Amino acid sequence: MAAYFALLGWTSFGICAAACISSAAIRWSGAVVFAAAALLFTGFGQVTGQFLTYDAFINLLNSRAFVDDAYAQYGGKLWWSAALSLLLLLGIGLPARGRLALPNWLAPVPYVVVASIAAILFLRGGEGARGLPASYPTLAYASLYGIEFALSPNRIREGVYLQRTSEPVDHIVLVIDESVSGHYLDINSPSGVETGLSRQWPGITISNFGVVPSITNCSIGSNLALRFGGTRENYRNRIAAGPSIWAFAKSAGMKTVYIDAQRTGGALHNGMNDEEVALIDRFFQFDDEPVLTRDSRVAEQIAIEVSKPEPSFIVANKVGAHFPVHDKFPDEYMTYRPTLPRGQFTDVSDTGNREGFDGSAESWRQYRNAYRNTIVWNVGAFFDRLLATADLSSSALIYTSDHGQNLREDGSSGLSTHCNADPGGSEGAVPLVYIAGADVLPLAKEIRGNGSHYRIFPTLLRLMGYDPKRAQQIYGPDLSDTSEEPETFNTRFNARLGQLPQWQSIDAETLLIPDDQDAEN
Ligand SMILES: [Zn+2]
Repeated sequence: MAAYFALLGWTSFGICAAACISSAAIRWSGAVVFAAAALLFTGFGQVTGQFLTYDAFINLLNSRAFVDDAYAQYGGKLWWSAALSLLLLLGIGLPARGRLALPNWLAPVPYVVVASIAAILFLRGGEGARGLPASYPTLAYASLYGIEFALSPNRIREGVYLQRTSEPVDHIVLVIDESVSGHYLDINSPSGVETGLSRQWPGITISNFGVVPSITNCSIGSNLALRFGGTRENYRNRIAAGPSIWAFAKSAGMKTVYIDAQRTGGALHNGMNDEEVALIDRFFQFDDEPVLTRDSRVAEQIAIEVSKPEPSFIVANKVGAHFPVHDKFPDEYMTYRPTLPRGQFTDVSDTGNREGFDGSAESWRQYRNAYRNTIVWNVGAFFDRLLATADLSSSALIYTSDHGQNLREDGSSGLSTHCNADPGGSEGAVPLVYIAGADVLPLAKEIRGNGSHYRIFPTLLRLMGYDPKRAQQIYGPDLSDTSEEPETFNTRFNARLGQLPQWQSIDAETLLIPDDQDAEN
């Protein structure tokens, strides 16, 4: 307690010092830095109801491509954080009078205080900023992150180190949906949304692994680990230094295809960089297509790619059901009502009318219905189109989502759906489906207990013809392995500074789908 009050006094002194510097320019720039840091911190707290941890801060930083979506969904609700930060801005920026004014040479003092907090966090694995003035956690995390970045060795990525023992399957497709919760689909719940995945389709078998754990509950971590592989133990090392799935595909003589429905204009996300893009033969984004119909284009493009004679490996990042979901489905697909007000987010990425979602129980009920309608369209109609047009008879397709959602089915409060610092099980509960032609690595139709994101990478390697035994030694068991898989996802994906990953069960049996109370009375 004494240590805490000493820290509280020290950090408060830092802010007062920033406010008392004589030079207006120095004071106002300090005011902007401290107020912006406070806004980020209190805004995160207001949306998630949780403390911003170092892991969550890194996720936030790496998810900046979604900042417009986040603003569209939450911007209007953050006036309280904005008001507090504005007060701080004025409090530091307005001139101090009389003997309070400090000489300019004391200008570094507030930043020395920040550095001292960063040093404490460094020694404590990122922990220790709770209860301090709102500017400090963010500023200290930013310093830590900068130091870590500067100190991290520039590692050269390893080349492909596995041998192939067989020919690759004709076409291998990995469809990564966005924010689709496994238990909202008909294949996993009697009241789930109809997807067509439980129907029979000629020439292919659909194997359902049920609701399985994702790698983590935020897009970037799951996507990175899906592309670089790794077990619960070695994923950090494989992402930092291992070959990407593109490298393995190219080395197996396959064309590499990336279909990204989320971004436009060549913008990269989910931790992808130019080094990775250099390994991609055909890169598709749909700049002129409205967000509403981009997933249909994904289905179309996959069908085109798998009809080509040369073997190919295809990764697709769908639009899926990321917030806001008000307008992610056409009127004809409005199966579930009452739904969120329509017509405000038609081109989601850049419009920002914040009416229509306030986090109340009624809002969440409408949100869940809009979410279901989105699944009817972006999952159901997507698969109808894909499976009716794509010839997968000598190919394999793995379908999953990057993470699940917390849609407040239990009536709890909060605005956020995923990337929470302390998530419940549903944020890591995703679908996992394997679709393949008759002669391609046959699996049973219903499989329970051995599915997870971690098994996708070694399965892709097996389909590419790599030695499954060696692949398993490095990347763990694949989807054909019947050994049991832990039902957990990683809630501290950015485990660094000596911290270890933290595992959270998805509790598949206890996931809530309150379909009755959501329906129109
Ligand atoms: Zn995501």
